[in-house]
Amino acid sequence: MAKADYYEILGVDREASAEEIKKAYRKLARAYHPDANRNDPKAGERFKEIQEAYEVLQDSERRARYDRHGHGAFDESPFDYGPGGGFGDLGGLGDLFESVLGGFGGKTQRRGPLRGSDLRFDLELGFEEAAFGLQREIQVSREEGCERCGGTGAAPGSTPAKCEACGGTGQIRSTQSSLFGSFVSLRTCHRCQGTGRVITKPCDQCRGRGRVEKRRRLTVNIPAGVDDGTRLRLAGEGEAGQRGGPPGDLYVLIRIRPHPVFRRQGAEVVIEHQVNFAVAAMGGEIEVPTLDGPAKLRIPEGTQPGSVFRLKGKGIQRLEAYGRGDQHVRVVVEVPTRLSERQRELLEEFLSLSGEQPREEEKGFFKKVKDAFGPG
Ligand SMILES: [Zn+2]
Ligand SMILES: [Zn+2]
Repeated sequence: MAKADYYEILGVDREASAEEIKKAYRKLARAYHPDANRNDPKAGERFKEIQEAYEVLQDSERRARYDRHGHGAFDESPFDYGPGGGFGDLGGLGDLFESVLGGFGGKTQRRGPLRGSDLRFDLELGFEEAAFGLQREIQVSREEGCERCGGTGAAPGSTPAKCEACGGTGQIRSTQSSLFGSFVSLRTCHRCQGTGRVITKPCDQCRGRGRVEKRRRLTVNIPAGVDDGTRLRLAGEGEAGQRGGPPGDLYVLIRIRPHPVFRRQGAEVVIEHQVNFAVAAMGGEIEVPTLDGPAKLRIPEGTQPGSVFRLKGKGIQRLEAYGRGDQHVRVVVEVPTRLSERQRELLEEFLSLSGEQPREEEKGFFKKVKDAFGPG
């Protein structure tokens, strides 16, 4: 089934400002909130859609991606790039959600569904693991809905009773008199914490909380090419929601251990490789390490220190794209520190021969000077 457009769901146009989107969301969230539509089962579905649309459009980065790729931006890609460690924004929706409900029909209201918290898991990988991808099992401690009571907190067979303190309204009215007359003040009921219901027989599994802490083993598919700071989103694997709210997400934050030989720039791999000065001068075939094992590289005569050669396709798999990057080999010319008698003899002979003819760059320099004065 085709998914409805997020802008259409919120009834705003594509140029809507963040403020307009927020406004539209608040209005719709109130109108379709399940608590206000107990007789309309479709309202719950609509409410979820509204929430989903808002989650994307309120985040400028995700909104931009949605504008470019549509729903595909999130369905096919579990990646969520962002500054490493910047997870402060993830809990934001819960707060807003609460404030929307708080403003819903009265000063204090019964508290509605609450989305579960997002979780973060830091996963350190070796250089090659990140380059080629792998499956990794991780262990996460998280709050899950209690299975015994179905998350209600009430012992099976018992039902939560109407709160006596507030008569089920979730709020306490009190009339106070002052010199200027009497006024009514409302506050959230402490006994039921605004839910209007109290659990008379708490579930013994969760002691009435409706949630229990569980350790879970999860298998994470890490695609080839993840980089330091890549976040993988495992939708719905965060903490359980409360009062019927959806669960949060689990974000796996990738960290990559540095490699002694390979360095990485996106999908490109860079290495420095020592080449004997005689080989650099004469040219030849050298062997260099790559992620796929040793590879042959032909260097030309007169290779200079710092020259960079490219091995096509020997880099890292591009994330969310086809093909691999390249490997770049930067030549470090190795000058011998100790010479044997014979080597010295040969080098001295080499030097005396070199002295007889101008060096290449001098030739070039003289030619340029000559050219500057024109032909002749
Ligand atoms: Zn329970
Ligand atoms: Zn109460």
